[in-house]
Amino acid sequence: MTDQIEKIVDIIFEKIYARFKRSGYIEIEASGRHVHLSREVIDKLFGEDYQLTNIKALSQPGQFVSKERVSLIGPKGQLHNVVVLGPEREKSQIEVSQTDAKILGIKVPVKESGKIQGTPPVEISANGKIVNLNEGLLVAERHIHMSTADAKDLSLRDGERVDVEVNTDRPMVFKDVNLRVSDNFDTYMHIDYDEANACNLTEKTLGLIVKK
Ligand SMILES: [Zn+2]
Repeated sequence: MTDQIEKIVDIIFEKIYARFKRSGYIEIEASGRHVHLSREVIDKLFGEDYQLTNIKALSQPGQFVSKERVSLIGPKGQLHNVVVLGPEREKSQIEVSQTDAKILGIKVPVKESGKIQGTPPVEISANGKIVNLNEGLLVAERHIHMSTADAKDLSLRDGERVDVEVNTDRPMVFKDVNLRVSDNFDTYMHIDYDEANACNLTEKTLGLIVKK
């Protein structure tokens, strides 16, 4: 019964969202700490040719939550049970919040996903194995994934910077949000848990895109 109600709520939400999207509203998702691993690191931690186990699809086409978990080891502390997202990537990337960075005891820069040049090293472990990554630890810059069709509707361009207003019970404006447009994206905004907690984000919160 609860499942059915949830499904109905989802369907209604999608219908409302489709309409609101054309007025510049966007669904916001909070990303918890996670890792993207290269083939080389998966081989070392889980065994040669090991394949990640897809247990849940993410909002972006082809991306998924795997059942595999790792630990991150810093000079001051460790983070356990960190989710591995699939599919594997050319380069490993470890995404944490600033709160996580403090627990690890590592100074971590805010970077656009994929731009790992100059990011600090981190130790990563699973199954009693340890891999020393010499770079790849970052706090992901907040960003919007937008489909080409939605961007056209809103006259927005790839690489544009926008502000996003969030009218929760702790309302705030996220400034300077990196907008990325692609045919391969579904339209969502991604923030981390520090940012989500700062505005008391709840499920299905919509933000309003304000052009600069
Ligand atoms: Zn994202």
